[in-house]
Amino acid sequence: MKLWRLVLVPALVPAAVLAQAQPVPQTQAKPGWQWTMDSITRVVHAVRAGRSLQPAAWPGGARVAVLLSFDVDNETIALRFGAPTPGTLSQGQYGARQGLGRVVRLLDRHRIPATFFIPSVSLALTPAMADSIKRSGRHEFGVHGWVHELNTTLPDSAERALLTKAMGELTRMTGRKPTGYRAPSWNFSANTLSILRDLGFRYESSLMADDSPYELLQDGAPTGLVELPVEWILDDAPLFDPRGERYSAPRDVARVWMDEFDKAYEEGTMFLLTLHPHVSGHRSRIVALEQLIAHIQAKGAGRVWFATHGEAAEYVRRAARLGEPRAR
Ligand SMILES: [Zn+2]
Repeated sequence: MKLWRLVLVPALVPAAVLAQAQPVPQTQAKPGWQWTMDSITRVVHAVRAGRSLQPAAWPGGARVAVLLSFDVDNETIALRFGAPTPGTLSQGQYGARQGLGRVVRLLDRHRIPATFFIPSVSLALTPAMADSIKRSGRHEFGVHGWVHELNTTLPDSAERALLTKAMGELTRMTGRKPTGYRAPSWNFSANTLSILRDLGFRYESSLMADDSPYELLQDGAPTGLVELPVEWILDDAPLFDPRGERYSAPRDVARVWMDEFDKAYEEGTMFLLTLHPHVSGHRSRIVALEQLIAHIQAKGAGRVWFATHGEAAEYVRRAARLGEPRAR
């Protein structure tokens, strides 16, 4: 769809977000006030939030679901632009050498499950990461592209081929077929949703229309695909760049996450946090993450349901009697 990119013009997006988001090609797009209502409706409804999948109760009567994701990007952040240097690659390799181990030890010490979305190239560069993640038997692997590709810049055939290859390789390297997808840098091309449906994914976690799970609509029709929404507020990358304009101290950021969790708890919804081993695996950030986990656990046993994204998606799917994705 030609109009797709028109909604992605970055003029109104804060600089801190743009720094992490996918670069969007500048277009000579017509501004929205010159569009017909038909064009607006078609673009807005291409991919949109449908019915809420917030269950009446979480398992065991827990008030809130806590979903932690770790996007194991490592060297792919440097590689995807095609001009890696030893410096930028080393910054990514830290995620595999130090960050991931620290994250996994923290999770396993507290018996907390998490989902690891991994670009297949990242895992191929350090295959031992799979064993360290698998050891507890508690964690999940999810697809995060082939090499953190800029999917919004790709034609359908290239995006489809990369995602098919990513899924196949992740399945081979982890021994299990993933059911969830997170778009590199959280964005969809005009074709992404169709590709996800064709590949049989059961949930998706890159969009931002709610605090609770919801069903994705495509061109106004239900898809049977669960969305587990993310938010830049609940991401470590934008505020943890010490060279960025908006660098924040890890403990200050953890305070924001605690407030987000407290409201989720009060409202009985979901708290989904996206972290990166090459970012949050550093020592000062692990301290902040330990504080956050202690804050969450202080609610008491049984009040909080820690789950992988896949477990949460299957739970809300059953609770809402969500149909299987239709054959296409
Ligand atoms: Zn990523």
